Amino acid sequence: MRALITGGAGFIGSYLVDRLLEMGENVSVIDNLSTGSLKNVEHHLKNPRFHLVVDTILNEMVMKKLVGECDHIYHMAAAVGVKLIMNRPVETLETNIMGTEMILRLANRYKKKVFIASTSEVYGKIMNGENASLLSENSDSMMGATTKRRWAYACSKALDEFLALAYFEEKKLPVIIARAFNTIGPRQTGQYGMVVPNFVQKALIGKPITVYGDGSQSRSFTHVSDVVDALIKLMSEPKAVGQIFNVGSSKEITIAELARIVKEMTGSSSEIEYITYEKAYGPGYEDMQRRCPDTSKIKNLIHFEPRNNLHDIIQSVIDYYKT
Ligand code: UDP
Repeated sequence: MRALITGGAGFIGSYLVDRLLEMGENVSVIDNLSTGSLKNVEHHLKNPRFHLVVDTILNEMVMKKLVGECDHIYHMAAAVGVKLIMNRPVETLETNIMGTEMILRLANRYKKKVFIASTSEVYGKIMNGENASLLSENSDSMMGATTKRRWAYACSKALDEFLALAYFEEKKLPVIIARAFNTIGPRQTGQYGMVVPNFVQKALIGKPITVYGDGSQSRSFTHVSDVVDALIKLMSEPKAVGQIFNVGSSKEITIAELARIVKEMTGSSSEIEYITYEKAYGPGYEDMQRRCPDTSKIKNLIHFEPRNNLHDIIQSVIDYYKT
C-alpha cells in the first residue's frame, strides 16, 4: 500500500507517517513546511519507503502525479491554529478551501479513497453547556459573524466537509471525515496559538502563563497518537465510508485549571496572568465556552478509547520542550 499524506510534516500528519511506516506501508508526503517542519519527519529521510515532496498542495501538476501513484490519501494539510487564522486569513481560506477542492477532484479522477481531516471548530460557538448535551456529529453548528475572523477557519472546514460528502453522494467517491477535538502532544508548536505548548514553554522559561479571558472556558484534550490510531482504523473500516466522526476525549478541564497543573508539573515560578481576548488576539476573536464531544459513534464502530490521560500527555509535552 502507498499512502499519500498531505501535510505529513505537520503535527498530526507526522505521527501518521510514523505509524503507517511502522505498519509497513509506503508513504508519500507533500508539505510546504509552512506550519509543518522538516524536523518532524527527518528521522525517515533515509527510509526507502518514505518519499517527501516539499511543495504546496495547490500545485496541480505535482498533486496529479502523487494522487495517481498512491492507493489512498490522508488529507491533513490545512492552515490551523487560532493565531495563524487571525493573522493570515487569506492563506487560511485559500489553503483550506482550494486545497481540499483539489484533493477531492483528483481523488475522484483516479478513484482513490480519501480521508479528510476536519475539526471541532465546525461546531462553531454553540453553547453545549447550556443543555448539557455533548456535541454529536449531527448537532447544529453556530458560526459567528463573518466580521469575526476566527470563524473563517470553521467555515472553510465546514465547506470541506460539504464538498467531501457531495463527492461521496454524487460521485460515489469513498471519503471519510473526522473532526479532531483539541489534539495535543510532543511536536505541536505553540507558535500558532495552541494552549498546551504555550503554557508549557512559558512555564519552563519562567515567563507568565497567560490565560485568555477568565479561564472558566473548558476543553477536552486528546493525545495525538490516540487520534492517529483512530484515523487509521477508520480508513480500514468499510462502514466508515461516507461518514463523519468526532475524535476526542470526553474528559473536560478548564483553561485556568490547566494553567495551574502545568505550573505545578513543571515546578515553575511563573505567574498565572489573566489577559483579555482583545489583548491576546486583537479584534475579531470570539471564544467558545465549552467544547466536548459525544464520541459514541466512533466508539461503537471502531471501539475508540483514548489511552493517554491528560497528566501523561502534559508530561510528554514537558519532556519534549525540555530536550
Ligand atoms: N488560550 C489561553 N492561553 C494561550 C492560548 C490559548 O488561555 O496561550 C485559550 C484559548 O483562548 C481557548 C483555549 O485556551 O479558550 C484553547 O485554545 P487553543 O487555541 O489551544 O484551541 P481552541 O480550542 O481555541 O481551538
